Amino acid sequence: MSARADRLTERLAGAGVDALLVTDLVNLRYLTGYTGSNGLALIAPSARAFITDFRYVEQAAEEVDASFERRRASVDLLEAVKGALPAGELRLGFEEAHVSVREYGRLRGLLPERVELIGVHGLIERLRAVKEPGEVAAIREATKLADAALEALIARGLVGKTESELALQLEFDMRRRGAEQTSFPPIVAGGGHGALPHASPREVEVRRGDLVVIDWGARLDGYCSDCTRTIAAGAASDHAREIYQLVLDAQLAGLDAVAPGASGREVDKVARGLIEAAGYGERFGHGLGHGVGLEVHEAPRLAQRSDAVLEPGNVVTVEPGVYLPGELGVRIEDLVVLTGRGREILTGLSKELTVSH
Ligand code: ZN
Ligand code: ZN
Repeated sequence: MSARADRLTERLAGAGVDALLVTDLVNLRYLTGYTGSNGLALIAPSARAFITDFRYVEQAAEEVDASFERRRASVDLLEAVKGALPAGELRLGFEEAHVSVREYGRLRGLLPERVELIGVHGLIERLRAVKEPGEVAAIREATKLADAALEALIARGLVGKTESELALQLEFDMRRRGAEQTSFPPIVAGGGHGALPHASPREVEVRRGDLVVIDWGARLDGYCSDCTRTIAAGAASDHAREIYQLVLDAQLAGLDAVAPGASGREVDKVARGLIEAAGYGERFGHGLGHGVGLEVHEAPRLAQRSDAVLEPGNVVTVEPGVYLPGELGVRIEDLVVLTGRGREILTGLSKELTVSH
């Protein structure tokens, strides 16, 4: 854990700051190991402090990496930042994507003149994008568990059950198999409802002949999995099969393009190009994929405007879709880890169009 703080410390000067105030709880967990809901850290070459309030003192003693000096503060942690600062003039970075305008104002008022506050962006997120072997192992286990839950769901059948019922079964099954929780509320969307990429499950039964988009994930040791399969409830029409094959071709091409050195934009373009060539470019309105880790959406992004360059240790999804309003949706999503040699697909489920009863 302290190696992460070391890597961050090495990058502070490059970001134009002498120290960094870490307030985002996910970044805080990544750097210190702390999983509570009130805490912050201050990191500088000469100082490493972790601050929490009395409710979390014992938890912090167990969880927080020993390279951090632990301090106890009132519930309003910002008041304690001043006391943890290194001496002298200081360019103090703060996480501009995670600090509210109100908190910024308070911080400015609480800190002495000698401290210049500088917004930084993505510093810890870029470290998080490159997973350590232990992180990949947790994601792999979460993926296996989620795979097993879908297989059980399909075996029990989809037709005649409501989307909400199916989503609940998935969630229950993942928890029963050891997941801490879901990565996000599962999506189960049949027929025309599948054309909404972020559909919420409804109290509507899946009908024979529907394509059903199922997007779900498990969280294990803090790490997420993320997968989508589109299942045929009963037999699918020829048109539905055609669209499914198109999305599958795009997904396989996208997976092939995932390699160290490729940019997020290039990988997106490979998959999107196939869908555009078939005349459905307008029906694929989201990015091709995203990083997955402590959060289900994190760096790097595979998208039309992504400058991210892929490197070994990245864990990303590849998830093209085609959405035909009022008719059907198809999305196929796998989770992939980049290795020194190329890529390994973590998702273990078949991508042939599965027909469930
Ligand atoms: Zn997903
Ligand atoms: Zn996803």
